[in-house]
Amino acid sequence: MTAEGGAPRPGVLEEQPWPAMRDRAWPVALLPFGATEPHNTHLPYGTDTVLAREVAARVAAACLARGTGVVALPALPFGVNTTQLDLPLTINVMPSTQLALLRDVVRSLEPHGVRALVLLNAHGGNELRALVRELQPETPLVLAVVNWWQAGDHALFAEPGDHAGALETAAVLHVAPGLVHPDRAAWGAGTAHPSVFAGVRAGWAWMPRRWTQVAPDTGVGNPAEATAAQGAAFVAQAVARIAAFCEALAQADPGRMWAPDPPG
Ligand SMILES: [Zn+2]
Repeated sequence: MTAEGGAPRPGVLEEQPWPAMRDRAWPVALLPFGATEPHNTHLPYGTDTVLAREVAARVAAACLARGTGVVALPALPFGVNTTQLDLPLTINVMPSTQLALLRDVVRSLEPHGVRALVLLNAHGGNELRALVRELQPETPLVLAVVNWWQAGDHALFAEPGDHAGALETAAVLHVAPGLVHPDRAAWGAGTAHPSVFAGVRAGWAWMPRRWTQVAPDTGVGNPAEATAAQGAAFVAQAVARIAAFCEALAQADPGRMWAPDPPG
């Protein structure tokens, strides 16, 4: 998914040569977290990875265009999928593996002027806040988590859905339309079965969903009404908000991130 003609996109590390990265400061890095799992019958296994990678690339470009060095690191293609392992070729990595990998990435960035690392998440099973809570005391980098699908305005969708629903389908229709099954009649309805436990249904009790019990077509949320235009609007809004966050992080004093006066 490179830019038109395959030209390297600004700030996208895996596409750039050494001098382009060496010759300027990169106060903020983005680490996209994806997953490899079925997404209903119409979206690819790499949906989360494709979306996280693309949002990161667009955030980096937006920040660079306004003069702030934000680098998009290569996307991690595997996520935590411990309750989807009965679905063929779902690839799981454990939270403890993510922690070890993140620690190594953070240590690699520390000597090079990076002041903040944003974990740009696209997969609900990636519980990245716990990783940040464990790693933050070890590093001078400011660590933050952004779930990209929460950064745009959900009111664009009658029902955004949770997994391969309208929101995610619209985003892929915008970013990588060739990867969406062209026949809408073949898309699953994304109907999810509720928990048998009242507390889980109410939200005060939680357990990971046993995916094949919950979602017969692996989707949660009806994708039928999704459009590429909705996806374009939602992605643009999310990119603008995340870019503004990265620019603020680039300026922030780690000793004064909670202001005594209201932020201006
Ligand atoms: Zn997804």
